[in-house]
This record gives sequence, C-alpha cells and structure tokens, in this order.
Amino acid sequence: MNDTLTLPLWIGGKERSGSSGRTGDVFDPSTGEVVRRVAFASRADVADAVAAARAAFPAWRDTPPLRRARVLMRFRELLEAHRGELAALVTREHGKTLPDAGGSVQRGIEVVEFATGIPHLLEGGWSEDVAQGVDCHSTLQPVGVCAGITPFNFPAMVPMWMFPVALACGNTFVLKPSEKVPSTALRLARLLQEAGLPDGVLNVVPGDSEAVDAVLAHPDVAAVSFVGSTPVARHVYETAARAGKRVQALGGAKNHAVVLPDCELEFTADALIGAAYGSAGERCMAISAVVAVGEIADPLVERLRARAAALRIGPGTQPGVEMGPLVTAAHRDRILGLIQRGADEGARVVLDGRELRVPGGERGFYLGPTLLDHVHPEMTVYREEIFGPVLVVLRAATLDDAIALVNRNPYGNGTALFTGSGRAARHFEHEVQVGMVGINVAIPVPMAFYSFGGWKQSLFGDLHVHGVEGVKFYTRTKAVTSRWPEPEARGRSGLAMPTLG
Ligand code: NAD
Repeated sequence: MNDTLTLPLWIGGKERSGSSGRTGDVFDPSTGEVVRRVAFASRADVADAVAAARAAFPAWRDTPPLRRARVLMRFRELLEAHRGELAALVTREHGKTLPDAGGSVQRGIEVVEFATGIPHLLEGGWSEDVAQGVDCHSTLQPVGVCAGITPFNFPAMVPMWMFPVALACGNTFVLKPSEKVPSTALRLARLLQEAGLPDGVLNVVPGDSEAVDAVLAHPDVAAVSFVGSTPVARHVYETAARAGKRVQALGGAKNHAVVLPDCELEFTADALIGAAYGSAGERCMAISAVVAVGEIADPLVERLRARAAALRIGPGTQPGVEMGPLVTAAHRDRILGLIQRGADEGARVVLDGRELRVPGGERGFYLGPTLLDHVHPEMTVYREEIFGPVLVVLRAATLDDAIALVNRNPYGNGTALFTGSGRAARHFEHEVQVGMVGINVAIPVPMAFYSFGGWKQSLFGDLHVHGVEGVKFYTRTKAVTSRWPEPEARGRSGLAMPTLG
C-alpha cells in the first residue's frame, strides 16, 4: 500500500471530509495496490452539496450567458494546459493507456467548446402579431439544481458530457462520480474554480448508493443525468421520475458490428480490434459482438485472432502498450466466469485471454484479449454485457437476418456495418433500432455538437446528452404572450376560452 490519501468531498468551493466515516479503496489496476481512499458522502453531505448549489443558483442564473461562456472558455484553456495531468489521473485509477485516456479528455474538452456557444444555443423564438397587437416569444430558462451520476469507465469525459452544458445553461450542479475513479472529478472542480466559477455552482460528492439515493430523494434536485449500467439506470430513472424530476439515464450496451462479404477485410479487422479491445473493452460503445454475414466469417475470425493475439498488454503508463488491465479484481473475476460459461455452453474459444501473464503485473487486474466464435443468441456471453476484452462472433446468412438479430437484442446503444455497398448501408441505417450507427466506423460516438444516446434499454428517458438535446434537457421553455394596449383601450371581456387569431 502506497500513500493512502483519503480524497475529500468538494462542497461550496471547498474540500471537506465526509460525515459518514465510510471510505472506499481506489486501486492502481496495473499493480492491484490501494493507492488512495475516498470519502463516501452521506445523506447529510449530499444535502449540504444541494444546499450550496441552491444558494449559488440565483446569481449564476442571472449571470449573462456570455459571461458564463467566458468561464467555460477559461476552463477550456486550463483543460488544455492540464491535459497530460488529467490523462495520467484517468490512467492511474482506471488502467486504460495514456493515449486512450488523453483521447477521452479531448472528447470532454469538445463538449466544453460546444457549451461556450451557449448565447446562440439559448436563442428563443419570436412571433409578431399572433393576433392584432399581440406578440409571442419563447425563452429557455435553467431548471435549477441538476445532478450527474457517472460510471467508472470515463472519469473525465462522461462528467464533461453533463456539467459544461448544464452550467452554460445557468444551472448549478452536484456531481456524484464513480467511487472507483474519484480523483479526476475533484481535479476538474478545482480547475473550474480557477477558471472563475463561483463557489457552490459545481459540487462533487463521491460515494456509493447512499449518495445516489440521497440525490434522487432530495426535493431541491430538479434534474438527474445518469450514465452507468442498465439495472442502476432503470432504478435512477424510476426513482427520480417518481419524485417529479426530469431524468436521462443512459444504461449498458451490447454493440454489434455487422460485417458483409463485400467489406474491406483488412480495414474491417483492424477497426474491430480497436473497437473490441481498446480500453480493455470497458467502453459503452465497444464492439462486443460481431455478426459475420455469409462466407466472410472464417477469414474474418482468422484475422481477428491473429491481430488480437499480437496486442501488447501491460500498464497503461508504459509506452507502446495497447491494452491495460481491468478496473478491479472483482470485475476481472466476473469476466473470467463468463468466458468459462461461454466455453461450457458451446462457444469455440479461439483466443483465451485467461492465460495471459504480464511480467511484473502478477497482482494487477489483467485479462488478455479473448475471442469466442460460433456464439448463439441464447448463450450467456451474448445475452449479458461483459464489459471487458471479450469479442463474440455470431454468424448470419443474410443482412436482414443480421439486422433482425441486432433488433432483437434488448440494448440499442451503438452498432456498425462494414460494407462496400451504399445500398446495403442505407438499408441498415434505416432499419436498425439503435441510437448511434456507424458505416465503416466501428465506434460511432457523435461529436459534441451532435447528441449521444442509445435506444431501448441503453437509455431511459427521451433526451440524449450534449448537443442540442443536452441544452433541451437542462432548460425549460417559457412562452410569453404580450400586448401593449393604447391608453383608454377597451378589451372584449368575454368569459369564453380566449382565441387570439
Ligand atoms: P454502475 O451502474 O455500477 O455505476 C454507475 C454509477 O451508479 C456509479 O456512480 C455508482 O456509484 C452508482 N451505483 C452503482 N450501483 C448503484 C446502486 N445499486 N444504487 C445506486 N447507485 C449505484 O456502472 P459502472 O460499472 O460504473 O460503469 C459501467 C457501466 O456503465 C456499463 O454497463 C456501461 O455500458 C455503462 N456505460 C454506459 C454509457 C452510455 O453512454 N450508455 C457510458 C459509459 C458507461
């Protein structure tokens, strides 16, 4: 065990220790060591954070959008200046490689860049003379105190899908980051303070389900954004909606890549390797199931096996390493069990990551790339989200059979088609019931100015995150109808429903 600093909460612009007395271990996944502890916020701590956010709301709401944008512009400059430090924090607690962590910080910066355009994004509408001498306009106003609950796999990017847009819209925010990777969120809060964000506008309460349930139950929280696994997303959605809050809850995934015989085979195999094993498969947009159509299956599986077997696995900080460890021992052990289950249920283990040994990393949470072929939809490895470096291959006779398979899956986050046919691509894009679609793009994560979100059990709620849907989520529309009568004017004082036209 190294320096076991206990990370604090961040409330009202100050560090504070938690009142629950409970803490969680934070690991370096490459060594298996506990490198930090983190205070778990209690219900009372969450109430303090919400009170700080509520107190800061009136002044922040009344700060002109351009000035709010300028705070985010300074925050963006600080993120650029601290990009390497933030990536290192992500790698240290998550395990992914430094270039991968840097890419995720970049994706977060892009949401901040989008949010700096908020004066334009908050434009309302105006109609003159909806009746004689009567005008109507609409404005977008912030909803109040918003909360974000985020998963372990993107410690910088997923919080930045949420709070830059929420703050730009004039809301204040309480962030409950994953207890497995808490340092990055706390660092982001300090950088925001340095950028000029008033105290209390953003608060960070690391913790577990006690903190989450306290957020969901608090009457002063107006809106909840959640990203994590489907069972927790459903719980958050149902609980927050029952309490009258608006909620967007993004859940788990099983993302399929459909590969047609007319694809560029080498390009496709390269793309699938990155999408399946990048970040050790711990991405909500990772490709975890390949549906090979017709005769492409055998040559594709052979190429995937050869490339996956050659991947360099090790600590995420080591130059040249392409895949790091999993986040915790418990997560790795669950996946070990799933691979065994796959073999027991009849899948062919083409590449077995359980045999991997990383010199010097014997206590790290490593699992090598694993490839299972001849997987069928009823097998556990297909039905469950694995969230690790395990790619399963199913076979289909036609494109329509493949689309039907994708559409029967309860998740609908991302999917990709690999083909040389525009007609097939258009058909796939139109028919597939998935929120984010790639054509010869394995990980079709929309840019910040589009919105990110899945369908079916990958999203509970209706609005996606960032982009214009993010602005909609964090604002309420007010429509104002106005008339300025001449002095001494008389109005019709009818008691019937007013009609203006
Ligand atoms: P998780 O659901 O275990 O945790 C997410 C958050 O919920 C964390 O902050 C955690 O503290 C909290 N939480 C966990 N259990 C809880 C409970 N019982 N009650 C209340 N709160 C609880 O998810 P994770 O393991 O951190 O992240 C991986 C999951 O997130 C995967 O399923 C992945 O697909 C999903 N994910 C989805 C997206 C997306 O955009 N759809 C993005 C990233 C991750």
